[in-house]
Amino acid sequence: MKEFDFVVVGSGIAGLSFALKAARHGSVAVITKRKGSDSNTAWAQGGIACVTSGEDSFELHVRDTLEAGAGLCDEQVVRTIVTEGPEAIRELQEIGVRFDEREVSGHREPDLGREGGHSKRRVLHVQDVTGREIENALLAELKRASHVQLLENYMAVDLITAAKLGFAAEDRCLGLYALDESSGGVETIRSDRVVLATGGCGKVYLYTTNPTVATGDGVAIAWRAGATIANMEFIQFHPTCLFHSAARSFLISEAVRGEGGILRNTRGEDFMSGYHARGSLASRDVVARAIDAEIKRSGAQCVYLDITHQPAEFVRERFPHIFETLLKLGIDMSQQPIPVVPAAHYQCGGIKTNVNGATSLPGLYATGEVACTGLHGASSWRQSENHVARMGGGRCPERGRVGSHLSQLGRNSPFDVGLRRHCSH
Ligand SMILES: Cc1cc2nc3c(=O)[nH]c(=O)nc-3n(C[C@H](O)[C@H](O)[C@H](O)COP(=O)(O)OP(=O)(O)OC[C@H]3O[C@@H](n4cnc5c(N)ncnc54)[C@H](O)[C@@H]3O)c2cc1C
Repeated sequence: MKEFDFVVVGSGIAGLSFALKAARHGSVAVITKRKGSDSNTAWAQGGIACVTSGEDSFELHVRDTLEAGAGLCDEQVVRTIVTEGPEAIRELQEIGVRFDEREVSGHREPDLGREGGHSKRRVLHVQDVTGREIENALLAELKRASHVQLLENYMAVDLITAAKLGFAAEDRCLGLYALDESSGGVETIRSDRVVLATGGCGKVYLYTTNPTVATGDGVAIAWRAGATIANMEFIQFHPTCLFHSAARSFLISEAVRGEGGILRNTRGEDFMSGYHARGSLASRDVVARAIDAEIKRSGAQCVYLDITHQPAEFVRERFPHIFETLLKLGIDMSQQPIPVVPAAHYQCGGIKTNVNGATSLPGLYATGEVACTGLHGASSWRQSENHVARMGGGRCPERGRVGSHLSQLGRNSPFDVGLRRHCSH
């Protein structure tokens, strides 16, 4: 049996951010079912929404978020996460994430992107590979941290709870069972603080922008342990996934629409103006539904995202990763419209938590995409996703209940004694 003060499941932005902070308080294991970098995080392109410019305000960001959430957001959670954004961005910068800047009247300022659903430019990005940069920086920081073990190819299978072991006490989480893929054996990992940061469930759907690790494990694991799950009917479809037989999960960043990309039907018409006042810049769910309606109405297989009116050099420089990937598939996005369809992208619901990540099961926490904090309501719009993961990951150990539990829960609690007995059988 392995034993840690904290066990974190998942090595995306949420799990790694949490682990780095938790390591200041005790021993931490990060278990992840493939390589450390295998995560939705590493695939994120567009960037992170945060109020950093004088033309923007927390109030506007809150208003945009509430509007996109279709009346189902928890306003207090939205306010907390939006106002703590700049601090989270500073923390990322401190570990080496260099968001793009531009020169304005002799001084440098963040090169803010604008994306659907936002009334202001507020998306910090590293070209169009923001997630990869963040993931790499967090993994590098984790290597430097003491008290943290990264266990790759370890798959969390089930939680160990007092109720499952038949203890006559208030139910709580006591650790988990994990499959060590290299040995094929199942290990018991003991901890009073288990944090699920397992990301979303896109792979449950036929068409998704998510990588293969996104199979909804965290929600299933928490549900089997009796934790409250909420809003799983709210799955966000990204409106613009590349429609191509050789690349089914390649996302065309929303930033392409933000930089002037126009959605056109097979007749070349700008159909979005007939669906919403913001046209192609409407929020993600509005655009995904409009494309779906347009496809069903016309019988076409896809619609087209057209940014050919922008200078070719701008397109190449602003979207180098998308540009190169498409070019390899025979599409020059500076010269021809990109065929796109909506695809499952983001899980708005999940394990119900408070803003600090506490679930309904004592000892179990959730953060990032797997958690349902109340921020997204019915319709997350993606620029907040990394933001949420980050904030959830950042809050738990220092200000949230996990930290305060550290001093209260000794390793030799009655649960430990019982569990050791159980494991020796
Ligand atoms: C193509 C794409 C583009 C995106 N672009 C943006 C963007 O521009 N801006 C934005 O804010 N968001 C974007 N997102 C969404 C964002 O990337 C995710 O919401 C966010 O990264 C989720 O972080 P996370 O840490 O919660 O989960 P993830 O990064 O998905 O990490 C989950 C981790 O859990 C591990 N795991 C899962 N199950 C188990 C198990 N049973 N045992 C052990 N380990 C397990 C996985 O292997 C992985 O390491 C994008 C997503 C995709 C797919």
